Amino acid sequence: MKINRHYLRLKESYLFSGIAKKIKEYSVKNPDRKIIRLGIGDVTLPLSRSVTDAMREAVSEMSSAETFRGYGEEQGYEFLRQAICGYYGKKGVTLSNDEVFVSDGAKSDLGNILDIFAKDNTVLIPDPVYPVYVDTNIMAGRQIVYMNGNADNGFLPMPDKNTKADIIYLCSPNNPTGAVYSKNQLEEWVCYALAKDAVILFDNAYEAFVRDEDLPSSIYQIDGAKKCAVEIGSLSKTAGFTGTRCGYTVVPQELIREGTALNSLWLRRQTTKFNGVPYIIQRGAEAVFTDEGQRQTREQVDYYLQNADIIAKTLTKLGIWHTGGQNSPYIWLRCPGGMSSWEFFDYLLKTANVAGTPGAGFGANGEGFFRLSAFGNKADVIQAMENFAQGLTGG
Ligand code: PLP
Repeated sequence: MKINRHYLRLKESYLFSGIAKKIKEYSVKNPDRKIIRLGIGDVTLPLSRSVTDAMREAVSEMSSAETFRGYGEEQGYEFLRQAICGYYGKKGVTLSNDEVFVSDGAKSDLGNILDIFAKDNTVLIPDPVYPVYVDTNIMAGRQIVYMNGNADNGFLPMPDKNTKADIIYLCSPNNPTGAVYSKNQLEEWVCYALAKDAVILFDNAYEAFVRDEDLPSSIYQIDGAKKCAVEIGSLSKTAGFTGTRCGYTVVPQELIREGTALNSLWLRRQTTKFNGVPYIIQRGAEAVFTDEGQRQTREQVDYYLQNADIIAKTLTKLGIWHTGGQNSPYIWLRCPGGMSSWEFFDYLLKTANVAGTPGAGFGANGEGFFRLSAFGNKADVIQAMENFAQGLTGG
């Protein structure tokens, strides 16, 4: 018996355990100080009324023999896939139900989708990055090539025609940098992927935060993308489903490699290894896409966007370079005074009682940068930014 030795190549992630440890030590030393957490990438507002009403109704259906449901379709109930297609329709993207696969969230599918690709594909991943892309490919033993995000390119790396890649990860709006690709930039990526016969895995988990109409909120708004991209969506940040679990993956029928539709491979994979998302959750997810559900969930996203704006405006006032904060719940800033990510973490905690996330935890290029998240309570965000400004200006 041999283990998968690729797992031994995974770097231990000390990011969140390191943060928790430092916060705990600080709290013990300073019990009277309230620490404001702007580090967490989890939502804080509860599920909207339309979602909980729909789930309650589904629970009562499950309690009656006439309406009870057992195993559902692995790729998701027709009613939810139809609702997702309707949502895409409003973005000007036409999808058919059989191109949409309901999932228990983006993270699972980002890892699972790799099942349908050969092991010897080269993978192109931005740095800094959401760590799941890197770890899932290390687990599979794939060769990873990194592309540099930095202040010069606004943390939006662009394709290099001399780099050959088979699988490309793009995330826009981005975690951790909050940066958003423009239509022109995504057009370049689509052109590159088509030229190289590569496949883009487009992580669209933060699409609901895109409010600028000139910015794309789906890669399929770009001509040709259906021939080269899989899009992975999530209701986690859109509708507060981080604990409820529902997302979707779009695999267009036009996406064909080696004469095979990737859609048929993914369908085969899902029907073999996945038993679908619970009926009750899918009814809750369907409610997100109704007019009332859209209104309610949009209000929640607006709340987080206002927090993001408060953070970004404070940084602008203080002359601190940053990306994100608009069309995104994340703000990515350059640590003032040339501090390293962890030095700034300690500094911010001590001077402002604010905990954020050191950029170095998202890759080598994150060193010297820092992520603040807008998912907190508004009064806390205002207080945090006042403390932050006072700490920096000494006023
Ligand atoms: N993709 C990105 C970029 C994320 O930041 C997250 C969660 O933080 C996910 C995917 C995971 O989303 P889900 O909760 O749907 O698994």
